Amino acid sequence: KAKQTGINQDVVFTDYMIKVLRERSQMLSSLQQDFQKNRLFMVYQPQLNLSTNTVIGAEALVRWQDASGHMVSPDVFIELAEQSGFIINLGEWILRKTFSDCKPLLDKYPDFRIGVNVSALQFLQSDFVNTVTKALKEQNIQGHNVNLEITESIGVLEFDDLTVRLKQLKELGISISIDDFGTGFSNLSYLENLHIDRLKIDKIFVSKLETQSGRSIIEMIINLGKNLKMNVLAEGVETERQQSLLLDMGCVESQGFLHSHPISLKQLEIWLHNRIAST
Ligand code: C2E
Ligand code: MG
Ligand code: MG
Ligand code: MG
Repeated sequence: KAKQTGINQDVVFTDYMIKVLRERSQMLSSLQQDFQKNRLFMVYQPQLNLSTNTVIGAEALVRWQDASGHMVSPDVFIELAEQSGFIINLGEWILRKTFSDCKPLLDKYPDFRIGVNVSALQFLQSDFVNTVTKALKEQNIQGHNVNLEITESIGVLEFDDLTVRLKQLKELGISISIDDFGTGFSNLSYLENLHIDRLKIDKIFVSKLETQSGRSIIEMIINLGKNLKMNVLAEGVETERQQSLLLDMGCVESQGFLHSHPISLKQLEIWLHNRIAST
């Protein structure tokens, strides 16, 4: 009897797995189709420095509205793209699309920095720096207008490769942020030896700012940034209360719904215009 139940469970499990796999592969093929049809687009979320009261730039975030009109979360489809290798194509498109979107903005605001998320697999490609260089040239954009957001998972790279790659990007004037810092369980020694410009505090910690543990982690990250001379930016700032606590703790760079949701390029231009008019 027990054995039979076990077999039945196996069958149920397998059916379930097949269903999940089928759904994933269907989702991947509709993603690829919509990509071909040019149905993906970028939105932009402002990043501020509250001590100088200036706009640092904006983070580019990809969006996919599928054929039925449903917005699919990038947490879902980026992961799918990473697992299938499609992120290599998608990531290159994101770079070029973001640069071509932002070119007119950069002509108007020459200090503006566009933050582009780069997945570890993309960063691992031996021609990654080439791809970035080509995309910059295509739009005649300077490296100092670009910040790449990478996650702690780049720690899987051979240290020498990582050093070379980061040095080449640096030479182009590009700055580097570590995204979702504190969630990756990585060996922190890379921070000491590589030139990282900014740590982005993951929004999970910001949302727990009122708890002792959330607060301690943020304090630790701010101290680490201070001691290693890196900027620290808090993401996911939603309330005035969170913002004032962060400022009290010495974190002056900020991004989140409190300041602006991710918005279209057109809206970003208006947002920047209004902000400058009002200061
Ligand atoms: P991320 O890079 O850490 O981006 C921050 C996420 O937090 C974004 O979600 C953003 O919309 C959201 N967010 C911003 N402010 C707030 C806030 O105040 N409260 C809350 N609750 N959320 C806020 P999004 O756009 O859904 O992206 C999710 C993740 O997907 C990103 O996390 C990133 O890992 C990935 N992703 C998005 N766009 C790209 C892309 O162009 N390339 C790559 N490689 N990954 C991307
Ligand atoms: Mg990011
Ligand atoms: Mg993040
Ligand atoms: Mg994230």
